[in-house]
Amino acid sequence: MSDDFDSARRNFLRAAVATAAAVPAAGLGLYAASRPALAEDLPRAEDGHAHDYVNDAADTDHDAFEDGQLCENCTFWTGEEEDGWGGCQHPDFMDVLVNAEGWCSAYAPAA
Ligand code: SF4
Repeated sequence: MSDDFDSARRNFLRAAVATAAAVPAAGLGLYAASRPALAEDLPRAEDGHAHDYVNDAADTDHDAFEDGQLCENCTFWTGEEEDGWGGCQHPDFMDVLVNAEGWCSAYAPAA
């Protein structure tokens, strides 16, 4: 084989390897830019966020509240993420973490 052919083949293989390495990296970049927010990215809800939400159920005097109702036993609760804060699947709380000891008027008992 000629030196020209070997050189061309080497260049082609280098380009192929570089392309193969770049495609997954580009895909990860796109994924990071488009992925849904992870729980650790979400701010903690403040009292009054929606539906008369409070971070401590003991603070509410809402007519609908009944003793024992807490975010942590609500059907919308998705589980604790950190330090007593966790996710809520109710559409009005999907952009925040709620407190396990919190409550709002959209409360629905877990099955
Ligand atoms: S819907 Fe349930 S889990 Fe979500 S904030 Fe209200 S009481 Fe808490």
